[in-house]
Amino acid sequence: MAFSFFGGVHPKENKIARDMPIQEFPEPDILVIPMSQHIGAPCKPLVKKGDLVTMGQKIGDNQGLCVPVHASVSGKVKAVEMRAHTSGTTVMSVVIENDHLDTLCEDCRPRTQADVDALTPEELMNIIREGGIVGMGGATFPTHVKLSSGLGKVDTIIVNAGECEPFITSDDRLCRELPHDLISGLKIIMKILGLNTAHIAIEDNKPEAAKALQEELTEADGITVDVLPAKYPQGAEKQMIYAVTGREVPSGGLPAAVGCAVFNAATCKAIHDCVYDGMPLIRRVVTVSGDIVMEPKNLMVPIGTSFNDLMEAVGHSENPYKVLSGGPMMGAALYDLSAPTIKGVNAVTILGKKNKYAVDEPQCLRCGKCIDACPMKLAPVLMYKALQSNDPEVMKSVHMLDCIECGCCAYTCPASVPLVLAFRSGKQILRNAMAAKK
Ligand code: SF4
Ligand code: SF4
Repeated sequence: MAFSFFGGVHPKENKIARDMPIQEFPEPDILVIPMSQHIGAPCKPLVKKGDLVTMGQKIGDNQGLCVPVHASVSGKVKAVEMRAHTSGTTVMSVVIENDHLDTLCEDCRPRTQADVDALTPEELMNIIREGGIVGMGGATFPTHVKLSSGLGKVDTIIVNAGECEPFITSDDRLCRELPHDLISGLKIIMKILGLNTAHIAIEDNKPEAAKALQEELTEADGITVDVLPAKYPQGAEKQMIYAVTGREVPSGGLPAAVGCAVFNAATCKAIHDCVYDGMPLIRRVVTVSGDIVMEPKNLMVPIGTSFNDLMEAVGHSENPYKVLSGGPMMGAALYDLSAPTIKGVNAVTILGKKNKYAVDEPQCLRCGKCIDACPMKLAPVLMYKALQSNDPEVMKSVHMLDCIECGCCAYTCPASVPLVLAFRSGKQILRNAMAAKK
């Protein structure tokens, strides 16, 4: 049974790349691999200028909440230096000159089914860590930590194949073209968490993907495909948990608090690649689309490819007004297109001046529409006002930290007030103030 969450919106889907099969993106000559690609401690580089590296070789790692990063091609390290990053800052990065030989690292060895069957949950989690696997829906939380913290607490596994953001079709294509790999990764998660059942949740606007998954499954697998009504933000973790189980994650709580663990579809595929093929996370599917894009595509892209290179691959009919890492609802505007794609980038969205989000000096009309749209039952208009006070206590009083940055409020707002952008910075101000108090 599917439960319908409060609020939400129905933006125009614009899934113009949905019928474009995944294409291999030609490897660029230069790749930039940032040491910060996940939530937690950034990696420290393990290579220096002049070193030769192989494809899949570990080139950065660190202690604590961290997963390693790997070379996505073979070649020579041209530099280890600060480079532009999707976050809008610069971060330490390893720049690789591609030799186009794709010489594979000798640590990348495939495993047979018998090998995999013999592995313990601890060994599997260690392989997943060493493979640099993180949440690939954008959260980039280290997957081995999510798994280990869920041990004994989780009774429900949900694979998030919702992909409710306009324009993005990368998970849809993955489900349609590689359902076996996705389900194989899910079975590894089930083994680690000691559960015999799981859900794959998908919206009803992706019937081909739901069918492809269902055709891969037998009753003995214990996996159900839950087809949910398309409504934004169905793919947000808390809303998806509610839609599948009827359980509400408490304010400030994690999914494990209600016995759930949610994994993105692409993450499941990455787990399969890592465990069976011995391949770390060095490539991913990226949708390159947008209202001024001439040839929208779903591309299998080596991590470290620049946004500039991806934009060239699709062409655009006018000067972009905005280029986003991600979709138009939750994506972050890019200020430097030489920045590389990282593990959490599922899409590049290129928008023209006539898109809904292009407003120069918006003024709140106090209409209250944003309150009806918020799936977290917040009052965005009051949060916006609280932000202008610049007082962390006032921001806390309107539950700013519960905002999941889904963008429903901004989408509904007739004045196009940039609410999400405002709340993103408000949450940072609040977190900094809380950290300073400790
Ligand atoms: S306030 Fe936050 S959670 Fe609510 S609609 Fe706006 S972006 Fe989404
Ligand atoms: S929807 Fe926009 S204009 Fe209306 S109250 Fe909310 S912020 Fe103000």
